[in-house]
Amino acid sequence: MDALPVAGGGLCAGAAFLAWAVRGRSSSVFGRSVWRGNPHRRAVALTFDDGPSEGTPAILDVLAQYRVPATFFQVGANVDRLPDVAQAVGAAGHSIGNHSYTHPLFCFRSPDFIEADLRRAQQTIRTHTGVEPEWFRAPYGVRWFGMDRAQRRLSLTGAMWSAIGRDWKLDAEAACARLVKGASNGAILCLHDGRELQARPDIGATVEAVRRLVPTLLERGYEFETVSRLVHQ
Ligand SMILES: [Zn+2]
Repeated sequence: MDALPVAGGGLCAGAAFLAWAVRGRSSSVFGRSVWRGNPHRRAVALTFDDGPSEGTPAILDVLAQYRVPATFFQVGANVDRLPDVAQAVGAAGHSIGNHSYTHPLFCFRSPDFIEADLRRAQQTIRTHTGVEPEWFRAPYGVRWFGMDRAQRRLSLTGAMWSAIGRDWKLDAEAACARLVKGASNGAILCLHDGRELQARPDIGATVEAVRRLVPTLLERGYEFETVSRLVHQ
């Protein structure tokens, strides 16, 4: 997480706690959440946020080539835009999670706004893929007051990540290197098959990062699992 630049004093300690509560990967303050799976198994979960996009099928091709499953945290608005691609993700055997409907920054939003957005995403994903997501990844990793209630009402568990590729910014080599370095038993690895709500985003760096990452981790003895299997087995 991003640490605050100041420390010490009651006010700063309170602010530091709030910053961790909102964005810390191990925080469950605003809703039950996991950030890694079983540390005793040599397995990782590859996860993708912000899809579906026009680039998603290229990622599905790479995953199919190596026969590895992944978890796609889909944005409801993107599912409405590309329902066939959303459906193809589930049909290929991958797990589908909820990444909100409008990809908002949830801090300072009301509990009703949060619940309505998550519920709309849940309904949209179910309509177009037939899948009822069990996992939720907060946009920007930001959780807030009211998220716990929304998650409980929608039977969603939060899923953060152990390592993130920063693939929206870095080139394929650098994004892949971050995830190879961050891989460990039970790690949840985060990439992006879309770019927030953009239509036709350029996700070339992500696709190339996946092409490099999957064989590298297989060579190092890792199995690939969905988030559910990584956490529950
Ligand atoms: Zn996102």
